[in-house]
Amino acid sequence: MGSPEPAQAALAELHLHLEGSIEPETLREIDPALTLDEIARETACAGFDGFIRAYIWVNRKLKSPSDYAIAARRLFESLEAQGIGYAEVTLSAGVILRRQQDLGAVFDALSHEAARTRVAIRWIPDAVRQWGADAAKPVFDFAAERQNDGVVAIGIGGIEAEGPALWFRDLYARARDRGLRLTAHAGETTSPQSVWEALEIGAERIGHGIRAIEDPRLVEHLRERGIPLEVCISSNVSTGSVASLQEHPVRKLFDAGVPIILNTDDPALFDCTLQSEYELAAREFGFTPEEIARIAANARRYAFAS
Ligand SMILES: [Zn+2]
Repeated sequence: MGSPEPAQAALAELHLHLEGSIEPETLREIDPALTLDEIARETACAGFDGFIRAYIWVNRKLKSPSDYAIAARRLFESLEAQGIGYAEVTLSAGVILRRQQDLGAVFDALSHEAARTRVAIRWIPDAVRQWGADAAKPVFDFAAERQNDGVVAIGIGGIEAEGPALWFRDLYARARDRGLRLTAHAGETTSPQSVWEALEIGAERIGHGIRAIEDPRLVEHLRERGIPLEVCISSNVSTGSVASLQEHPVRKLFDAGVPIILNTDDPALFDCTLQSEYELAAREFGFTPEEIARIAANARRYAFAS
């Protein structure tokens, strides 16, 4: 593992997808036949459906372990340059298995890159909600087997409305028993109920979770239990999960006492950095330097690595 450890890290990023971090230049490094125009056209995120299409398109470019290694190397270089000391990187392991790629070989290549960076990297293999529990099981089994190689948690993502969290209840319980931490994308595009269901299966952090603002009882629950939301403002605007930047509930959630962490989600697709997300929060939502410092501290406090 790289260093420094989370406690000493200046900045930490907890919700970051490897496949959504691949900048156009890196895609051209992976596939020199691609043009910048083509990349710009294919990765434009018009609404949530457009985002999913773009995400799938990028995934299809990753054909071998060495392609994944290039993506990871460039991401880690970027994190280092940004002064990020700790990152939990989500890997779309469900997609890798669905495409019948060798997940073990891909992860070996990624681990090799993680060992070479100064950023402390931890991994969150995630499964795709709408493909169901049978498809998720090998993802979580793999995660359990690779905890000594930096895997700290499992997650679910994809289309909330087509894959209820409750489908994954048994798998989440088993993952926890095997020592894995639990997160889940929920309450991004649907409803507070989706967050409740993620909590019911044991999620310790919620990816996005912004719909919580629609349910005062849920807001209170998150505050009382100290359950953090992995908030990704630019992502929510780009995917249309919020109608406009001004309507993003990050300020209301923070003021209500819900632990907030700021993240980039898919920085290449949403054209953001962790620093730009902090700046956006300060500029658009009036977060003071002290409040920004509290949010940055949350990212270290709620990191899954001990
Ligand atoms: Zn995400």
